[in-house]
Amino acid sequence: MSLLAAARSGVAAASSAVARAAAAATPAGGGAVGAVGRRGLHATPAPRAVVGAAAQAAREDATTTTAQSPHAYPIIDHEYDAIVVGAGGAGLRAMIGLCESGLKAACITKLFPTRSHTVAAQGGINASLGNMHEDKYQWHMYDTVKGSDYLGDQDAIQYMTKVAPEAVIELEHYGLPFSRTESGHIYQRAFGGQSREFGDGGQAYRCAAAADRTGHAMLHTLYGQALKHDATFFVEYFALDLLMDDDGRCRGVLALCMEDGTLHRFRSHETILATGGYGRCYFSATSAHTCTGDGNAMVARAGLPLQDLEFVQFHPTGIYGAGCLITEGSRGEGGFLKNSIGERFMERYAPSAKDLASRDVVSRAMTMEIQEGRGVGPDKDHILLHLDHLPPELLNKRLPGISETAKIFAGVDVTKEPIPVLPTVHYNMGGIPTNWRGEVLSPTKEDPNAVVPGLLAAGEAACASVHGANRLGANSLLDIVVFGRACAHRVAERLKPNTPHEPLGNAPQTTGEASVESLDDVRWADGGTRTSVLRLEMQKAMQNHAAVFRTQKTLAAGCDKLDAVYAKYGDLKISDREMVWNTDLIEALELRNLLQNAVVTMHSAEARKESRGAHAREDFTERDDVAWRKHTLGWVAPHDEPAAHPRGFVKIDYRPVINETLYPEEQKPFPPKARVY
Ligand SMILES: Cc1cc2nc3c(=O)[nH]c(=O)nc-3n(C[C@H](O)[C@H](O)[C@H](O)COP(=O)(O)OP(=O)(O)OC[C@H]3O[C@@H](n4cnc5c(N)ncnc54)[C@H](O)[C@@H]3O)c2cc1C
Repeated sequence: MSLLAAARSGVAAASSAVARAAAAATPAGGGAVGAVGRRGLHATPAPRAVVGAAAQAAREDATTTTAQSPHAYPIIDHEYDAIVVGAGGAGLRAMIGLCESGLKAACITKLFPTRSHTVAAQGGINASLGNMHEDKYQWHMYDTVKGSDYLGDQDAIQYMTKVAPEAVIELEHYGLPFSRTESGHIYQRAFGGQSREFGDGGQAYRCAAAADRTGHAMLHTLYGQALKHDATFFVEYFALDLLMDDDGRCRGVLALCMEDGTLHRFRSHETILATGGYGRCYFSATSAHTCTGDGNAMVARAGLPLQDLEFVQFHPTGIYGAGCLITEGSRGEGGFLKNSIGERFMERYAPSAKDLASRDVVSRAMTMEIQEGRGVGPDKDHILLHLDHLPPELLNKRLPGISETAKIFAGVDVTKEPIPVLPTVHYNMGGIPTNWRGEVLSPTKEDPNAVVPGLLAAGEAACASVHGANRLGANSLLDIVVFGRACAHRVAERLKPNTPHEPLGNAPQTTGEASVESLDDVRWADGGTRTSVLRLEMQKAMQNHAAVFRTQKTLAAGCDKLDAVYAKYGDLKISDREMVWNTDLIEALELRNLLQNAVVTMHSAEARKESRGAHAREDFTERDDVAWRKHTLGWVAPHDEPAAHPRGFVKIDYRPVINETLYPEEQKPFPPKARVY
């Protein structure tokens, strides 16, 4: 009987389990013995699933236990001081910090690190370096608070903008190949929503860039640094669930090694989630297909709330049809938008900043132009982005990547023709609520800033909240390095290297048994709906009901539709029952994660009766600071418990915005005022 068959039939296949554990303990990189021992048909050495010299030890530490789940999957145990889930910019920066402080740490990632979505970032990273003109972090802070439409937490915003120059110079010292000015300083370009002198001094040039491939340069640089610190990576391991104990402490994660189908229980004193966004809830998004909000959903399944999910950023310039991004840096270098009558319409909507107004403002203006019949093309359904007036040498030097993207995906030579563009889902402002140190929050009535012991989050998965209701371009690459680093600092403060682990106890949520059971349910799902069909239903519902402009009618209908789609997860059909490289299973697990993010997004949007940042309601057109200057919290119930909350699957509550600054002697909080560009 094979191990899997034994597992399914409920027999604890002790001998097979031991064999599997022995196979698992082969050296990383697989010598000939490892390769043959693990995968008989594999002609080439086994892929380096585990990277780093410490990795071999990590695997040999592994002991095999058997979960008490009905189908008895063998589980390989690992013990670390700290675990990072995700190897994008946030996860890698956190890993570097943990290694520097001598902690025994490992990073679990479903993708090879340099394939994380950070690699796709184009425009750059903001910091008040002052290389192009005088600059101050307080000006950057003001722009970020204003950009957030006064929903951002000002302590976190001050922290991020204050340490930004240090973070960028650290990246430079790590070897990030920034573009340079004539004098050899880091080049900084104009970007949306950036000003001098608290909005009174005109456009700021604050966005440090490596041509239009900044994320690529950053991710490779950080990965190189992590390897330099001999960081341990578990590559192509899919994190399933958090291990939470009865006291509400996070004790680690359960993960599935996609390559060989083994389950791994990573025990850790501190777990940092850096799993990225969930753009793929929508039909058209600039984000990678892997941006499925897994960490957010793990937190939601642990009974914790997600914050401000209604705020989804539409980037003004996704290529019409394909959805690929054309960076805001293209407008920063002098590009502009035109409607069907050849008008630079942004001059009407944002007289000072024009095409470099904040993204929510530009996306709304484009949508209004289209709605009023001034869109271009046979269906008058998109807008044109002109770069053809810019010198070809400049395009070649500063925007080579998007010139190529436009050629491939729109068939356009940017030196001669405009690019057809349309607002496209780009970024999730909401996510796992954290404080400015990266600690995850579980707000209560008594303490809206109560911390979850043992759990931190950084990057697009987290909501610190530095972006509030709208993120400014080039503030996310900053956010990921600043808060990845902050998480590592916090863990190092709280933890001594090699702290012994206490026993896990028997609760199914703590041992991972509950997670194994739900994995088993999905693996053997035999309903009538395929993952791809259900995913499309979700994406269309999100696209139609939670778009740039929203109304009560579209949102209420959206809640009903999404609740129905979510409930249908119980009717899922999986065809592949294997555990080895089962993409059918992984996509089904990712769909569950997407759905949990999507329902909270729709319900949170329906509940918020005002317009703020990226949440633009046609029936409540004004921002209402008295009633609504607060963070939304959304708890989601499992798909088979539709009546768990009064509003179906989602319970909504609120948490106050933090108005205090961290260093009031340097900058007092910015009070809300009308937001004009
Ligand atoms: C096309 C594009 C261009 C952009 N350009 C810019 C820009 O110029 N400037 C800017 O500031 N921002 C930009 N952004 C936004 C910014 O790039 C992202 O928000 C940021 O890179 C996210 O980084 P991250 O580390 O949080 O997550 P990601 O880079 O998305 O990494 C997520 C990691 O989590 C891992 N993971 C996820 N789920 C699991 C799981 N279940 N188990 C194990 N591992 C898991 C993945 O393997 C991956 O390593 C852009 C975004 C896009 C899509």
